Amino acid sequence: MSNNESNQKPTNFIHQIIESDLQNNVHEKIVTRFPPEPNGYLHIGHAKSICLNFGTAEKYNGVCNLRFDDTNPDKESQEYIDSILSDIKWLGYQWGGEICYTSTYFDQLFDWAIHLIKEGKAYVCDLGVEAAREYRGSFSEAGTDSPYRNRSVEENLALFERMKNGEFKEGACSLRAKIDMSAANMNLRDPMIYRILHTSHHQTGDKWCIYPIYDFAHGQSDAIEGITHSLCTLEFEDHRPLYEWFIENLPVPYTPKQYEFSRLELNYTITSKRKLKQLVDDNAVTSWNDPRMPTISGLRRRGYTPKSLRQFCDMIGVTRSNGVVDMGMLEAAIREDLDSSAPRAMCVTRPLKVTLTNMEEGVEEWFELPAHPKDESMGVRRVGLTRNLLIEQEDFIEEKPVAKNKHDKWKRLATGDAVRLRGAYVITCNDVVKNELGEVIELLCTYDPETKGSNPQGYKPNGVIHWVSEELSEPCEVRLYDRLFTEANPDADKEHSFMEFLNPESLVILSDSRVERSLKGAEPETRYQFERMGYFCIDADSSEDKLVINRTVTLRDSWAKAKK
Ligand code: ATP
Ligand code: MG
Repeated sequence: MSNNESNQKPTNFIHQIIESDLQNNVHEKIVTRFPPEPNGYLHIGHAKSICLNFGTAEKYNGVCNLRFDDTNPDKESQEYIDSILSDIKWLGYQWGGEICYTSTYFDQLFDWAIHLIKEGKAYVCDLGVEAAREYRGSFSEAGTDSPYRNRSVEENLALFERMKNGEFKEGACSLRAKIDMSAANMNLRDPMIYRILHTSHHQTGDKWCIYPIYDFAHGQSDAIEGITHSLCTLEFEDHRPLYEWFIENLPVPYTPKQYEFSRLELNYTITSKRKLKQLVDDNAVTSWNDPRMPTISGLRRRGYTPKSLRQFCDMIGVTRSNGVVDMGMLEAAIREDLDSSAPRAMCVTRPLKVTLTNMEEGVEEWFELPAHPKDESMGVRRVGLTRNLLIEQEDFIEEKPVAKNKHDKWKRLATGDAVRLRGAYVITCNDVVKNELGEVIELLCTYDPETKGSNPQGYKPNGVIHWVSEELSEPCEVRLYDRLFTEANPDADKEHSFMEFLNPESLVILSDSRVERSLKGAEPETRYQFERMGYFCIDADSSEDKLVINRTVTLRDSWAKAKK
């Protein structure tokens, strides 16, 4: 994206703060960071944070660091790191300098913990998890000092050293900041800053068996990197006093500032890595990049473009008020992008055989159709017609329904009626062939040779339908996706898990579909508008013999209609 384009983006409260900081010479250069925990794949909520952090840096000619917040080795892995790198690049952003890892700062953080101990501002506490919780008190009740709170500096230094050397079991003790057990803000009631974890780390191997808590690591990492605006979601608002306490009480090289904005919540899906992981682990979906997943890699495989996701993030804006965004907005963003960028093609998803009885067997007639009705630069494609055709089953009805008004007319094919084949001739259905169950399995039609590029004489076709030639088309499997959950807020029910609201029709596989020949050999991630059917994207599961094609989104918002 050019700077020009990003400069024209609507501003938000964070940009207003930054502009005022720049005007008042508070900062020379804006430095933001995107700090994912590599404990899952990124989702659409992260896209909001990525667009905000990288987009803000871009807009003000600053930099955005990518920092893996890797203080939880139990749940993290290289697979997640790789997926996060790939997603950010795909969205079109580049981090400043080297990739950062909180684990790179473990030595510094350890030294700062020692600094707090020496200042009498941290102590080793032997209370177990349960006991520590009881001592913490509640919102309405002050906490109680831990019996270990007044250990001497020497004792604390010795114990912390022993913690580091692996002399204690997990949970036997922890290092806590000594702040205020009666603080109104519970985060200030002597929060834990280091805990014992006998887990090897994907970056530091077995060097450490104590790891800093997020709150102790995050602000200090911001300080080390000289982050000017540390942007995080609103649930960290209550942690800000603690963030500031550490910065004030440590000899950090820089004073970063935390600002909060509201999380993105999207209806009919979930944006929690833990829950998305459960969907994968329980095989409710095939993988993290299942096209039904709200992950960036899932949306990508579904057919979403980087541009559409960035456009969506622009549309929803950045505020401090929580709200749920309608999935329809995300779909509107991809429709808008693909309407202008996706070439058109014809695909018959549920085929019904049509025989043109007045066309010779073996004859091929080729038509040139524009790849895009409004964009000549996209060129043309050749579509072949033969005696044996396929049309969509739902485009035929034996007996045309009586129209209640002129908007309600049957616009497709019916026995005794005519319809235009998109880009080719008008055909008339003269007869049908049925199987022993009485189902229509073939239409016997004639084409009108006078209707190539002109209207028929003396009769009027019902409408225009899409089609393919049986011989001059390619077999494909079409995967129709719908929302993953049947409930707008699958997480709201206290008694039922979100897993109980999975939409059983979130994936419908049509394995006998056929697509026009121009798609032969199409590469994964190529996107099309299949006329009248929606926007589609070639899936990586495609083989040389058979394309696999994902429906990204229908042409119109059928959910909005259904709700009315
Ligand atoms: P999850 O609950 O899905 O695990 P997280 O906040 O723990 O999310 P992180 O990897 O820590 O995941 O997130 C990296 C950054 O993305 C953080 O700054 C976080 O605030 C932001 N982020 C995460 N989820 C959302 C969301 N739904 N909307 C906006 N920003 C988000
Ligand atoms: Mg987090």
